[in-house]
Amino acid sequence: MTATASNTLPHGRIHNFSAGPSALPLPVLEQIKEEMLHLPGARASVLEISHRSKDFERILGEAEADLRKLLGIGASHQVLFLQGGASQMFATIPMNLASGAKTGYLVTGAWGKKALKEAKAVCAATALWSGEADGFRGVPASGEFASDGDWAYLHYTSNETIQGVQFQSVPESGGAPLVCDMSSDFLSRPVPVERYGLIYAGAQKNLGPAGLTVAVIREELLKRAPASLPEIFKFSTHAENGSLYNTPPTFSIYAAGLVLKWLLETHGSLEAVADYNLAKAALVYDAIDASGGFYKPHANADCRSPMNVTWTLADASLEGEFLKGAEAADLSGLKGHRSVGGMRASLYNAVPRESAEALASFMNDFRKRKG
Ligand SMILES: *Cc1c(COP(=O)(O)O)cnc(C)c1O
Repeated sequence: MTATASNTLPHGRIHNFSAGPSALPLPVLEQIKEEMLHLPGARASVLEISHRSKDFERILGEAEADLRKLLGIGASHQVLFLQGGASQMFATIPMNLASGAKTGYLVTGAWGKKALKEAKAVCAATALWSGEADGFRGVPASGEFASDGDWAYLHYTSNETIQGVQFQSVPESGGAPLVCDMSSDFLSRPVPVERYGLIYAGAQKNLGPAGLTVAVIREELLKRAPASLPEIFKFSTHAENGSLYNTPPTFSIYAAGLVLKWLLETHGSLEAVADYNLAKAALVYDAIDASGGFYKPHANADCRSPMNVTWTLADASLEGEFLKGAEAADLSGLKGHRSVGGMRASLYNAVPRESAEALASFMNDFRKRKG
């Protein structure tokens, strides 16, 4: 085997294709290390200071300002830094927004299915479209589901992390507020925030360490929560308290803040981030498409994800050997989710182009040897 893929990253670090928690930008990790004993100004680490200190208030304020700048969030929407993961949002969204009314879900993969299941525990939630019968390979075309203003909201998952299926445009909600789980493609491309009622994302895919969940919510939706809902679960509680109702995940917010600054400094805009991501993903999809059927893509071509590339081997008996060879070439985290099988390469913002090149080159070599 050619050793082209080995040890090309600094510090002998692996090519990290983990689906989440996942790769962070090296300059961010270096800054964290640098500041671990002395956060500038604080003379203590960020782990050791009050969430109500002026140093942490500055960190929180800058993280919000940088997020607003990158995503283009206007005064119509509030930014919340929450805990509990996207999974807790699956429950708190219907608790806050449904108020006994019906809600509609577009189910394009495993996460959307989980979101719908949680909503059913709270309100009358319906799958307006599901790709399950087809193995979750596609997204609905605009005429394939009907949503209207009767729904408390329309929920969808912009990028299904497990199946590698991504919406290429914003679905038409027919007047219902649009709610979107963007956990695995948050900040990977530009988003028309003004069209959404609520965007949410767990940080550990594309934004920072685990423990932080970001929500971007339209101001008027904050008023919908029933008074009987415990304060801690009301989005309005966190909005009214500037995400400091209780102790937030301070370290994760700090690290996410550094990632936001890195995105602004390295790429400048989400258009540039998207270009970079599409070029990385094209390297891997080209290796699949040019393989003459040796590698088989899971998602339909019109909605395949630049974030999570999913594929199987035509000869499934070679998959163990593929993964072993990949590990030996420092290509880590490629085993697909057990529900899909095969391989998955997660190519989030912080995964450098060199890693996608190393993977494509390994895939081409492996096919030449075994095909
Ligand atoms: C990872 C993921 C989740 C679950 O996130 P948690 O933070 O573990 O709750 C939900 N939705 C999508 C799209 C994901 O990728």
